[in-house]
Amino acid sequence: MFWQKTNDIASSVKEERLAMIKTIIEPFKIKMVEPLPILTSEQRKGFIRECDYNLFFLRSEWVTFDFLTDSGTSSMSAQQWAALMVGDESYAGSKSFYRLEKVVQDLTGFPHIIPVHQGRAAEYLLAKALLKPQQIVIANTHFDTTRANIEMAQATAIDLPIAAAKNSREWHPFKGNMDVEKLNHILSNRGKQVAFVIMTVTNNSVGGQPVSMENLKAVAQICRQHGKLLFIDCARFAENVWFIKTREPGYENRSTRSIAQEMFSLADGTWMSAKKDAFGNIGGFLAVKDAGLAQEIRQLMVVTEGFPTYGGLAGRDLESLAVGLEEVLEEDYLRYRIRSTAYLGEGLKQAGFTVVEPFGGHAIYIDALASIPHLPWYQFPGQSLSVAFYETVGVRSVEVGSIMLGKKDPQSGQQQPALKELLRLAIPRRVYTQSHIDYVIEGAHLVAQQIPALPGYRFIYEPPVLRHFTARFAPII
Ligand SMILES: *Cc1c(COP(=O)(O)O)cnc(C)c1O
Repeated sequence: MFWQKTNDIASSVKEERLAMIKTIIEPFKIKMVEPLPILTSEQRKGFIRECDYNLFFLRSEWVTFDFLTDSGTSSMSAQQWAALMVGDESYAGSKSFYRLEKVVQDLTGFPHIIPVHQGRAAEYLLAKALLKPQQIVIANTHFDTTRANIEMAQATAIDLPIAAAKNSREWHPFKGNMDVEKLNHILSNRGKQVAFVIMTVTNNSVGGQPVSMENLKAVAQICRQHGKLLFIDCARFAENVWFIKTREPGYENRSTRSIAQEMFSLADGTWMSAKKDAFGNIGGFLAVKDAGLAQEIRQLMVVTEGFPTYGGLAGRDLESLAVGLEEVLEEDYLRYRIRSTAYLGEGLKQAGFTVVEPFGGHAIYIDALASIPHLPWYQFPGQSLSVAFYETVGVRSVEVGSIMLGKKDPQSGQQQPALKELLRLAIPRRVYTQSHIDYVIEGAHLVAQQIPALPGYRFIYEPPVLRHFTARFAPII
């Protein structure tokens, strides 16, 4: 049972040595195991009915393959566990802070490093320090929490993805890019209103799609011309680095670290949800060039996060994040990570599903509207598919469609659709093996056979905000 090799992977000396073997293996062996809950489909059907068909209500012990998110769900390495033991729990000036500080400084080139408990805390602090009401922030696409923090400061978040990002089937090597013409246009016409610009790498909200160095450079240059700060929301920076290395001319022989360093050198600061590419179960940081901004944030953070050398984290967390940030740039890991995600995408496609392409770094998205032709958007095809995947194979996925992103018009009471009806399968890092994925793909063939009989869903309880978390549903029979 092996991941098959593809041709789009840059060759290296090591690969020439291994040229006879075409398989990409998990580049780790397993030292500690955790049982995988195995249930019958009858049991699962009972549990999901009990949960009123909302997968967020499922207990994790009822889920065999948890593809709800890649956030905070990574396996830590032996080195990370070892680092936990040497964590320094001093309130101020912890040794573990200085270790993390050095690693982040070397990686990003930014001198001022501020730990925080999650990525969204960094966003909150940055918005608090930099934003005034009525200002504008521009991004390739804002992640939900980024947008929420900007809107809470009474500012406006504008997304400028490239046109290709809107088409699920158009192949573009860097679908996460920003539309630089539109950026230039807004900065030329309403530049005064713009507070700062964000590049999210990879671009989570358009499907974990990468940003090219060329695009990042163009955006940085426009920001410089207009005197605007550029920040990188770098939750999945290493996955982005691998896409640059394997898809962008001129980068094939560069080290992953030097590509990352070049990305960060183009910006004025960055923040990270370390629950993603730092293999953390919790954590984050903010790193900035400007001493004055860092000082202001350090003052603000004491109220919500804690003293600036721990930022809401235990010393042991700081220590293990420092290790994770180094491990994530290992080529063997990244080659496996990106390839294994694509492997699931190919398998789902072969099973007959319409899948968003090219495949992103951390998740595969099924186009549910295209995959279940008999269900209209207002019967929530993504939800229907997520229930079928759970009942049939024990997979927990998440609808990213009109339940999560649509809304009810407060005046007319009419439901408003989202742009797309997607089902997301996000893949935790270093957690599942190929035999797990093969099982899921086999199960996907069974789900595909049930498509003509899959029911739509309706709300039986519809919360006014963030409704996907607490809504209750019934099948339409
Ligand atoms: C997860 C994420 C965040 C928010 O980070 P948390 O650690 O969940 O608070 C911000 N931006 C991006 C791109 C993310 O993926």
